[in-house]
Parts: sequence; structure tokens; C-alpha cells
Amino acid sequence: MTVRVRFAPSPTGYLHIGGARTALFNWMFARKHGGKFILRIEDTDQERTVPGAIEAIMDGLRWLGLDWDEGPDIGGPYGPYIQTERADLYRTWANWLVDNHHAYKCYCTPEELTEMRETQMKEKRPLGYDGRCRYLTHEQRAEKEAAGLKPVIRFKMPLDGETIVPDVVRGDITYQNSQIYDAVLLKSDGLPTYHLANVVDDHFMAISHIMRADEWINTAPLHIRLYEAFGWQHPVYAHLSLVMNPSGKGKLSKRSQSFTDDGQEVLVKVSEFQEAGLLPEAVVNFLANVGWSFGDDVEKFTLAEALPRFELTGINPAPSRLNYTKLDWLNGQYVQEMEPMALAKAVKPFLDAAGLEVNPEALLAVMPPMSKRLRRLTEAVDFLRFLFDDVPLELAPEQLVHKQMPYEAALDAFKQTCSLIATIESFDTETLGAALMQLGEQVTTNGKAGPFLGILRLAITGQQVSPPVFESMVALGRERTLARLYEVLTLFANS
Ligand code: GLU
Repeated sequence: MTVRVRFAPSPTGYLHIGGARTALFNWMFARKHGGKFILRIEDTDQERTVPGAIEAIMDGLRWLGLDWDEGPDIGGPYGPYIQTERADLYRTWANWLVDNHHAYKCYCTPEELTEMRETQMKEKRPLGYDGRCRYLTHEQRAEKEAAGLKPVIRFKMPLDGETIVPDVVRGDITYQNSQIYDAVLLKSDGLPTYHLANVVDDHFMAISHIMRADEWINTAPLHIRLYEAFGWQHPVYAHLSLVMNPSGKGKLSKRSQSFTDDGQEVLVKVSEFQEAGLLPEAVVNFLANVGWSFGDDVEKFTLAEALPRFELTGINPAPSRLNYTKLDWLNGQYVQEMEPMALAKAVKPFLDAAGLEVNPEALLAVMPPMSKRLRRLTEAVDFLRFLFDDVPLELAPEQLVHKQMPYEAALDAFKQTCSLIATIESFDTETLGAALMQLGEQVTTNGKAGPFLGILRLAITGQQVSPPVFESMVALGRERTLARLYEVLTLFANS
């Protein structure tokens, strides 16, 4: 069997992280089996369609590296890939169902449906369409038509018996047909509902496997009956686990809870993960762990490493909660592996956005020490804040002395550092490092450079947390390093 799978989002806004997980699992399955991954836009509920949403969804997928083989932008042999562009096809098949007695026209008005619902509530009966138009006589039908009522088309669900949904992840799930109402397939405006469009498209796009969110599972028995009515074979079903809030209380759908227990913001849109300075490699690795596991207690892996192990039967049906702390840890691991140049490039847009201009060489200089400390790329901004031109040095001389380097010694050390910085031939970390180490050993009472270098770092950056002193100086450049040192001398002079 040729594997053909699809990600079928509705363009209602943005790419949700749960949707991204669905897309990822489909993508992995397609790539593992040398099959096709298809992007299809389910936009038949036009009231919910948001302009720009298709682009936002595609941007999110692209950022995650989930490339599709057929889709609205690139076309393909089974197009078009946007449902509103396929409306004729759904109408044809809805009418085919009516002609073949698997569906019927329903003329119930919204008022009539509301009244039906109210009665059902009052009488404490189950809610749902009671099938009244299923039994209209020829004459009654003709009357309604003559009155100009615009019908919808409803499916004739079998009235009794069971429908079994065979799900690779969950096993067989049995539904009582009597519990499933005659669903609308085609609305009175001639557009299909989700059920019809989804089934028709999966069939005509030759979809072999359906991997989708758990919330769709209850539509599967209806869909299976639709396939049967059409005389088509249904794809293999695999309903993925529910994605929960970090707290494990409730599904991660809206911004019902916007902070995790340890005070971090809960990210929901894929674009928020990007803006938070997370790397796409880390995010897909994180998502692959949501409802699936690599095995052998391995949590960090590339998708290429995961593919040989990825099986539908390995998907865990239990709800999975998003562990953002784990994500930050993973991201830090990926950051550590980055080459300085790649990290500098990745960090640059965040510095730019914060209005922090750093010359490329300086930035490169601070990358090796930073790669060990950063979890999110956005943290680089605080880390490098000292590079802003206008940071006032909010230090008191007491902070710049040490028991191994009391007041006079510290003042002297800063003076000597000034002349060293002013005259040193090449202003790079190695040369600076060697010279300042040597100076440090002379200015402390115990002959160790440590206290001096620590204080110097604080004096240069004004920050408790920053890159190490030599890299910080290189990043600042000779002029600005000197300027900061003069500021320190003024501080001492005024004290
Ligand atoms: N359009 C549905 C969604 O927004 C697709 C469900 C399915 O994959 O069948 O998730």
C-alpha cells in the first residue's frame, strides 16, 4: 500500500501546537514509509475562516521543517487542496447519496430545530435530530419544495445495530448506531459539512491512514458508515492522544491557563514558540515525545533518528501533558551543540528586535560561553544587555573591592587595567586573557587572578550574569571597554 497521509487544518487562525503534533506524526509516518504528506485546508465552515490563516499555518509548518508533497501552494495530482474550491465534487456526491437512498433532504427550519431541542431538553431526552424529514412522503416533500424551503442533505444513519471503529492506537471502539443522529452532509448554501468533505476528500485523495486528534474520534462511526454507503474502503484510523495543559488539568485549547506551575507562560501558537527563542529542532523533538516515545529512556533525538522507530502501534493513547520545563532543557541541549556562527545568526534577530546592535565579530566572540548557558535564545538579550550604549553603570565602589583586593589595590588594579587595555596590541580574547591573568596575579594579596577577574567582569558589564570577562570586553570593543573603566575610576574618585 502506498502511504498517503494528510494534515487537514481548518484555517481559523494559527497553527496550534497540538495541530503541529498531529502534522508531525503524519509527516514522520509518510517519511518513514517513503509515502506522501499532504496539506489540505478544510475551510467549509466559512464563518470560522480567518484571512491569512492558511499562510500562518504554512509558515508554522515550514518553520518546523515539516515539508508537504502536495498542498494548496504547490498543487499536486489530487488537487485542488482547499475544500471551498472542491464544492462541486461534494454536491455531486451528496446528491448521489440521495439518489441511492443513503441520504435525504431535510427542510427543517432553524426555528423548528430549536423547538425540537427545547422539547428534548424539557422531556430529558437525548438531544439530536429526530429524523422527521427522513419519513416525509412524496407529497409532503413536493409541498415543502413548492413553499421554497431550501433543504439540507442529511445522512441516513442505520437505526439500530453497531458500528465498530478499528483504531490502530486504541483497538476496536464500538458505537451504538441508535446514538448517532442523521448528520447534515450538505448545508442549504450548497457547501458541505466537515463530515462529507472530509470523507470525499480522503477517498479521492487516496489517503491511506488518518492520524488526527482524539477529539475527532466520535465522528469516525458516522464516517465509516458514509464510506460504506459510497462503497469505498475507509483509511486506517489512528487517533492521537489528547494534548493537555502543563498542569494536566484540561485540554490545551485556549488560553484558559496562561502560566505553568513554575510561573512560565504557556505557549500555544507555533509562532509563540518561535518568538520565545526556541529552536525548531527542539520543538519537533519535544512534540515527538508527546504521545510517542523513542524508547530506551532517550528523550533527545533527531527526527532522522526517530523515523526507523516510528510505528503507529507505538503511539500512546493516554492524554499527554506538555512539559515546558523539559522543552527548555531540550532547547538548551540543542543550543549547546550549535556552532558559534550558527548560534550568532540564530540569536541576532532577537537582539535586533530588542534594539541591541552588536557587531558580528563581537557577537561571535561571546557565542562559545553563551552556548553553555542559554536555554531560550531570547535569554541572550538579558545576557548581552551590557552592550547597549546607554546602560548606566549602577555600581558602588564597595562592589568592586574584595578581601584579596581592598580599596587601594582595587583602584590601582583598575588604573593598570586602563593602561593595559589602551596599549595592548591585539584586542582578542587570548591576548587579553593572558595579559589580564598576569595582572590579576599581581594585584591580589593571595596572588590569584580570580577575584580580580570577577570584579573586572562586574565593572565592565554591570551585570551579575554575563559572558566571561574577556569575551565581554571583546564584544564591547576597546573604546567602550576603556570608557567603562574610566567610569569606574570616576566612581572611585568620587567616593
Ligand atoms: N479539519 C479538521 C481539523 O481542523 C480535520 C480533522 C481530521 O483530520 O479529520 O482538525
